Amino acid sequence: MYWILRLALLFLCLLLVGSCCVDPVDQTMYFCLGEMSLKEEVELGDAYAPNIDAMFDGVYHDPAAADYLGRLIVEMAGHSVRAEDFAWKFTILNTSTPNAFAVPGGYIYITRGLLSALETEGQFISVMGHELGHVEHRHSHQAMGRQLIGGIVVGLIGTAESAVTRSREPGLATSLGSAGAQLFLLRYDRGQEQQSDERGVYYAATMGYDPAEATKTFAYFQKLEEESGGLQIEWLRTHPLNENRISDIHAEIEQKYPELTARPRSSFRPYREGNDSFAQILATLQRAEPTYEQYDKAWTAFAEALEGGKSGPLEQALGSFEECAAAIPDEPLFHTAIGACHLALERHAEAREALEQAIRLDDMHLPERRLFRPHQLLGMVWFEEGDHRKAAAEFELASDLFPMSPTPLYYFGLSCEKLGRRDDAVRAYRQVVELDQEGSFGTKARERLRSLGASQGAGRGR
Ligand SMILES: [Zn+2]
Repeated sequence: MYWILRLALLFLCLLLVGSCCVDPVDQTMYFCLGEMSLKEEVELGDAYAPNIDAMFDGVYHDPAAADYLGRLIVEMAGHSVRAEDFAWKFTILNTSTPNAFAVPGGYIYITRGLLSALETEGQFISVMGHELGHVEHRHSHQAMGRQLIGGIVVGLIGTAESAVTRSREPGLATSLGSAGAQLFLLRYDRGQEQQSDERGVYYAATMGYDPAEATKTFAYFQKLEEESGGLQIEWLRTHPLNENRISDIHAEIEQKYPELTARPRSSFRPYREGNDSFAQILATLQRAEPTYEQYDKAWTAFAEALEGGKSGPLEQALGSFEECAAAIPDEPLFHTAIGACHLALERHAEAREALEQAIRLDDMHLPERRLFRPHQLLGMVWFEEGDHRKAAAEFELASDLFPMSPTPLYYFGLSCEKLGRRDDAVRAYRQVVELDQEGSFGTKARERLRSLGASQGAGRGR
């Protein structure tokens, strides 16, 4: 019943406050819940961005790739109708799930998994140009309306997260998440995909690449879908493919850039410049790929072992993670996973050592964009050891790194209770209830508030 009420409220809002906004690319009008200022768009992106880092295992550490591809993105953004609007920020996310997306505010992402599957720089530009196109057109604003976006995103992250952290109580697994976090981004409609494909073509052509390379990426996702045997590919869920999409791209090129259709392949960038930086980036990624594959498999095995509560498979997963860490010693994710195994096996000293190693390595990479998970897990270790002061500090940091997650906040609340910091605990539980209304953490937080004799905050309870 609750959601029906919310839906009714939504329709009421649409009737009362709906108005017309302008698409920055083609100046067409669209129905919206109210104009969103540039400042609001940037603030939304800034609030959203840390959560994306947390859900996708942070930034992939390859300074050469970040530098080279980042410069390409800056060049690309220079051709954008919204070039002046944002300081465009490019990130390679450290996850194997093939995906690319952009969020309002100029944040643009590709995953390690998709990057390593690309063949050419032109393909990279057309993929990222497509994603940039969604931001230029303000497709998320068009789809949802300003007021809704924040609420829906919080709701969906809560759902996705509780789906992957469903677990025993009081849970170690609750703090883990899965290796490739599920995506929560909006699904765009057919017309929006076409508009963004056109932007992908525009960027590739404008920057001197062969715009037809965009179609290679579709072929890749199609193949992936066939191979996966019906498994949902996240990018396809948010970017529905159909057979027209490839022919539409060719039609767009013929219509707007007819001079390019007859040009020899060797005349397009980067061949013209003899540039092999992209090839080197791919080679580095592909060398590391088997290790990340092993890591992903071990995570799946680890999650299953945790559900089953058996120590044998946990030891096996641990052995596998240790092999990964031996192959790529400075990857903090591997040490985090080793720590998670030791914690699950109740070897707290070893867990702490591995997690502190993960944090040390992570801090050497990008101290301003720390990994969420090792801090959350280290908090769990201190909590289990009974050092609630250190636990509270780690959970507080973890919560800063993943503001939309109820998990670290809930454990921060528990730690504060142990320390006699009732007011801090109440504040934390109230936030948990807001973030996870329908979920298990919301329920548990409401129980804690009741037992502390505190109200649930401003009209949020049911
Ligand atoms: Zn798209």
